[in-house]
Amino acid sequence: MVIRELIAASRKIVFKFGSHTLAGDDGAINSVFLEEFAGQAAALIAGGKRIVIVSSGAQVAGLSTLGKWTRKRDIHYRQALCAVGQVRLMQAWQGAFERHGCRIAQILLTQDDFGDPIRTLNMRNTLFTLVDEGIIPIINENDTVSVEEIKIGDNDTLAAQSAILWSADLLVLFSDIDGLYSKSPKEFPDAELVEEVRDIDDIRKNVSMGEAGSFGTGGIATKLDAAQRALSYGIPTILTHGGKPRCLEALAAGNQKGTVFLA
Ligand code: ADP
Repeated sequence: MVIRELIAASRKIVFKFGSHTLAGDDGAINSVFLEEFAGQAAALIAGGKRIVIVSSGAQVAGLSTLGKWTRKRDIHYRQALCAVGQVRLMQAWQGAFERHGCRIAQILLTQDDFGDPIRTLNMRNTLFTLVDEGIIPIINENDTVSVEEIKIGDNDTLAAQSAILWSADLLVLFSDIDGLYSKSPKEFPDAELVEEVRDIDDIRKNVSMGEAGSFGTGGIATKLDAAQRALSYGIPTILTHGGKPRCLEALAAGNQKGTVFLA
């Protein structure tokens, strides 16, 4: 199935943004991008779709706010950066969506929350209620309470878990690449885009993956894991570039490339 058809057929869509998409190289939140995305998302909602956003970027936003990166090995310093940056991030999202007449809500979750049936039920009910009220939930990991062992560690997993929790029809992972390549596209110019994946175990054996970025903690391997997780609940996943002009409209019109993970 092509991307255009998949978007058209999906009513409930989860969009996940990596920090590379939301912030520039200096770590400052790219408000022009956020505003542009909000306008396109508002149009989708007006057309009957419902959306949930999973947004990284708290750590880079915290870094650019405080302007120093002295204790990067210190987990508590990183958590502190996230606590500062999360406010910046939500401020930016709120400003962007407000200009298009949409309200947003913040949901901060940890891996522990997904392991507890009562919490899971509460999260699910809150998500459904927010969306029913026409509000756009924006989910991020709760870095303040996450220590090593309970850390989800990457928002691709969180996005897949959120899509499952909300019974989404589609998960879209926006990254800084057009999709999954046969090998790391930044290292190998001859890497080829894989446009459709039906067997994730098989594709793992056939593509090579480079290192994850310094801000993005996941890398391509976690995107495959996330797609597999979502697919096991019947939710297809699209991996595509979030930084192209008007990427959401381009996707819906079939004018943007990506990798589609289908059952
Ligand atoms: P994000 O912050 O958007 O979640 P990550 O930095 O975690 O993104 O992961 C995406 C990166 O993975 C790409 O920028 C790319 O350089 C790298 N990468 C390594 N191997 C591959 C591959 N086979 N296909 C696509 N991307 C790959």
